[in-house]
Amino acid sequence: MLGRLADRVRELEVRTRPEHPDLTAALQRRWEQLPAHVRTPQQMLGRRTAGCEGTHGVFPRCDLACTPCYHSREANRVRVDGAHTVREVDRQMALLRELRGPGQNAQLIGGEVTLLDPDDHAGALRAMIARGRKPMSMSHGDFDYAYLEALALDPATRQRRFAHLSFAGHFDSMMFGRRGIRRVRDERELNPHRRRFCEHFQRLEREHGVTHYLAHNMTVTPRNLDQVPGVIRDCRDMGFRMFSFQPAAFIGNTARWKDDYRAFSTDEVWARIEEGAGGRLHWRALHIGDVRCNRTAYGAYAGERYVPLLDEDDPRDAAWLQTFVAAFGGMDFAAPPALLAARLARAFAGRPAALPGLAGWARRFAARAGGTRALVRDRPRAITFVMHAFMDARDVRPAWELLEQGVMSDDPRLRETQERLQACSYAMAHPEDGRLVPACAQHSVLDPLENLRLAEELPLVPSAADR
Ligand code: SF4
Repeated sequence: MLGRLADRVRELEVRTRPEHPDLTAALQRRWEQLPAHVRTPQQMLGRRTAGCEGTHGVFPRCDLACTPCYHSREANRVRVDGAHTVREVDRQMALLRELRGPGQNAQLIGGEVTLLDPDDHAGALRAMIARGRKPMSMSHGDFDYAYLEALALDPATRQRRFAHLSFAGHFDSMMFGRRGIRRVRDERELNPHRRRFCEHFQRLEREHGVTHYLAHNMTVTPRNLDQVPGVIRDCRDMGFRMFSFQPAAFIGNTARWKDDYRAFSTDEVWARIEEGAGGRLHWRALHIGDVRCNRTAYGAYAGERYVPLLDEDDPRDAAWLQTFVAAFGGMDFAAPPALLAARLARAFAGRPAALPGLAGWARRFAARAGGTRALVRDRPRAITFVMHAFMDARDVRPAWELLEQGVMSDDPRLRETQERLQACSYAMAHPEDGRLVPACAQHSVLDPLENLRLAEELPLVPSAADR
């Protein structure tokens, strides 16, 4: 009895810590492994997050045809098999939990997630949650409300089986085969489909109380670069909380490479994102990995005004970021109210300077938004802008091979690729050898072989033994 009570107290003590001890250890390891050039005061890898995670080889198939497509040519020769998906997702997540601690964002990705039966999709999400991940399903968004409802509700009781769902919808005019618009001439034609995607989730929340977080993903090529501002302006109020842009890279299925994707720079993409956002985006305020891979700008709209969370030119905001990280570390703020209150109390008790720091930051944020009255009148809506620039397979392959041998290249281009791979913020787990691999290396080097093997294991036409 006393032993059980002591266990409960110990468990409560750990749960109410701002940062779980396993995460503290994982962050420290991550920080120590990072190359020197990214160990900056603005760096969040190894201090606030261990990085993003994604699944691979769990449902490679997709029913759209995109140019470019990051999946290898063999991906569509693998059948969707729910038992395989749930089993492999669980194995990959177990390794991520072991190496990266709890509470990290993980994407259920690899093909088209809604080709999974809703129960298998739910099983995969459950496995991710059970392993301490915060899952997000990555989809082309071409599914009906009935699918979403079937995913969210227990089929036996019709009660919700998830209180919250996170989805990223990938929409751009280089995608072919979407129902109702098989070929798209410009981005604007997709807006009804983007709206429909958001409305499914709004309806789910109205009818069943399942809340949501929606991201909008878009590949950028010379064909749609100039349409980026219009997409943001048209879709800003649809319900997306994040707009993520991926300048196209030469990875995956070579048959789907159409343009000179290097005809523009990432600076040009970012300029178009800022144009659409209607304000300067302060991506230098904090970094997630290597800035040649990622730019992230946190902020909110107060009415029509875009307000950055941190002003990259204001040293007081830079100082607040350091205080924030010291006080909260990798704390998960999306906790039930009582638990959150306990964690906040312990964080402030451990770092009392965070309280006046928070007040100062709140004053500056309100001033940027046009004053407290403006904030009360136009309740701010948080929207994050992201640019993620994958690298070309022809660079990643040799760079990765050399890294595997422990050799840093003298060639400036390969050297840069290696530095970025070492600071990667988006990893995939390989339980068979206990390793985490950057998504660029996964897609450029490992996917083709993996999918060939899967095509034998899970052929499109099931073998007699499978039937
Ligand atoms: S190495 Fe590739 S997958 Fe990793 S953060 Fe950079 S672009 Fe993304």
